[in-house]
Amino acid sequence: MGGFNRAVVLDVIRRSRLGISRVELAAAVGLAPQTVTNVVRRLLEAGLVREAGRQVSGPGKPRTMLELEPRGGFAIGVHLDPSFITYVVVDLESNVVAHSQSRTPLSPEPEAVLESMEGSIRELLGNPDVPAERVLGVGIAAPGPIDRDRGVVAPPLMPGWTEVPLRGALITRLGLPVALEKDVTAAVVAELWTVSDRDRDDFAFLYYGTGIGLGVVTDNQALRGATWNSGDIGHLMVRSDGPLCPCGRIGCLGHATSPSRLVRVAAEAGALRLARRPTAPEVDEAFTELCRLAADGHPVAAPIIRQVATDIATGIVTIANLLDVTEVICGGPFWDRLAGPALADIRAAIDGSPSLVTPHPIRVSGSERGPDVTAVGAACQVLDTVFSPHPSGLLIDRT
Ligand SMILES: [Zn+2]
Repeated sequence: MGGFNRAVVLDVIRRSRLGISRVELAAAVGLAPQTVTNVVRRLLEAGLVREAGRQVSGPGKPRTMLELEPRGGFAIGVHLDPSFITYVVVDLESNVVAHSQSRTPLSPEPEAVLESMEGSIRELLGNPDVPAERVLGVGIAAPGPIDRDRGVVAPPLMPGWTEVPLRGALITRLGLPVALEKDVTAAVVAELWTVSDRDRDDFAFLYYGTGIGLGVVTDNQALRGATWNSGDIGHLMVRSDGPLCPCGRIGCLGHATSPSRLVRVAAEAGALRLARRPTAPEVDEAFTELCRLAADGHPVAAPIIRQVATDIATGIVTIANLLDVTEVICGGPFWDRLAGPALADIRAAIDGSPSLVTPHPIRVSGSERGPDVTAVGAACQVLDTVFSPHPSGLLIDRT
């Protein structure tokens, strides 16, 4: 129970942006004042909170205010993507204090990728701003499906990656606790940690990466599903005259909006130069060019991106009708490039859709976290294990 009380107290201190006194804290968490005093003493000793001046409120002696010590702990977040691996270190407030990115090694050998990951993480651990003894653990975000119980991943777009025991391998290499999350869910967790004036209790997150995914938050909780693989909207049908999806059907959202398909279509129409079998980094570069051409009104690129906007809007309308969300936040590795030429069209298509039945408008915005959102969320998942009194937050393990 000590851990539970500690998490509850710590979480309330974190959420009180202006600091909170012990008396207010006891009232907020519903624990006896002596219990709160004891928990706070241990948090002060552990360097997770600090005293932040005194506040006079009415008669009686001034109250000492408590606030989070952001540098009391750090978490490492890793986003494994077929093109890039992104690494961040965040402090207890989820501020990014260190960042690096490398191309995913072209060798499909998982060992080569693990080697590269270990090297990059060790480099971050060598950062003088990140005291090694305060690093709480590593969070990994990987494309689904993940086998969370066994810590195994099998990303569909990384050839050679069948059943890779990613979590165990990194625990062995690093000697730190490692948590595994599906990429889209990690992005959602980052949004839940983002300080915002908006009401963030219910929203959807459209993840636009090598694949497309949907994150869902209800009552301030990320929906994960029975095996933590929720959010696959790739085969949501958005167009009766769309391209043939590998699943055999026409007009699936994932295939219609897939960056690798879009750049191939643009190349076949002569707008881009592209290898016949492009690597993930080549697709990434070509997609940047495609979005740039579309923003300039290129006669081939602009209609391709306009169609993507329509398809994404159709998907969002179905999702908004289903979940009754007022806000859809968009992000993921390819989103920021797409947003420039497509966001206005996406919003217009949603607003004008005859299928939209929600009695309120749908707000569509880009993640304030930018392209690092997934790596940040992977790290925040580790922070959740420190702060969250919910059992699901205490599942980080060393096995
Ligand atoms: Zn399909």
